[in-house]
Amino acid sequence: IIGRVWSYRDVTTERRAQAERERLLHEAEEAIRVRDDFLSIASHELKTPLTPLKLHLQVLRQRAVSGQPFPLQHVEKALAQVARLSGLINDLLDTSRIQAGRLELRHEPVPLQQLTREVLADLRPVSPHHTLEYEEPDETLTIQGDRGRLAQVLVNLLENAIKYSPMGGTIRLTVERYGGQALVSVTDRGIGIPSDQKAHLFERFFRARNAPISGFGGLGLGLYICRDIVEHHGGRIWVESEVGSGSTFRFTLPALEGAADAHALPGP
Ligand code: ADP
Repeated sequence: IIGRVWSYRDVTTERRAQAERERLLHEAEEAIRVRDDFLSIASHELKTPLTPLKLHLQVLRQRAVSGQPFPLQHVEKALAQVARLSGLINDLLDTSRIQAGRLELRHEPVPLQQLTREVLADLRPVSPHHTLEYEEPDETLTIQGDRGRLAQVLVNLLENAIKYSPMGGTIRLTVERYGGQALVSVTDRGIGIPSDQKAHLFERFFRARNAPISGFGGLGLGLYICRDIVEHHGGRIWVESEVGSGSTFRFTLPALEGAADAHALPGP
């Protein structure tokens, strides 16, 4: 009987070791697949703006050689592609900073409504095909944090709302106070997000099935970076969405001078 018990244990230990080897192998294969996917997505995305950029520069060179005036629209379009490239590179740099735990944030009082108004004023001229609505409370809300990084979150959510909405769509930005928390919401009437994919939206390199419909490229890093920034400010970020009806991305931030928490804060 003793002999049988021992041999049973040996087999179990051997099976466990084998299962562990298989798990490690699977993890290593998965890591290689993620790295390869990343390289091909990142190189494709980084290369895409280069083709129109080169074309616009060639037109400008030709004009310069033949002594003709420079058409401003080519300069503007070339600059837009440069902005797109630098946005992608900044997202990649931010992601590697987050991964290394080195995304540094300033801690200064930020008047929230002033920031939201400034972000909207910068975006309106570059998104003439969408109506941007805005609503804010009368009292000033102040956040302790990094002004530039909070602006980055707002720009990201608003640009996504524009990217994933039809031309002529309305996007609504609202700021509210819920007790000691500021609640910021960005609502669009765009393509919406499949319900089984919502849970993954804030993961690194995740693009939902709906992304190709928009016709816009992307690295799937914007929301990942937004979540990190919001959570480092002590807030939360989530999405409410229905395919075909649109999406609302909301985030909270602790307000500096908070009234007692009188209202129930909406949540994911
Ligand atoms: P990117 O836009 O570069 O793909 P993000 O991290 O900003 O990366 O977004 C991740 C994915 O979430 C997008 O690819 C898209 O599938 C989905 N998404 C984000 N915002 C919206 C939105 N407002 N409406 C519909 N889908 C969205």
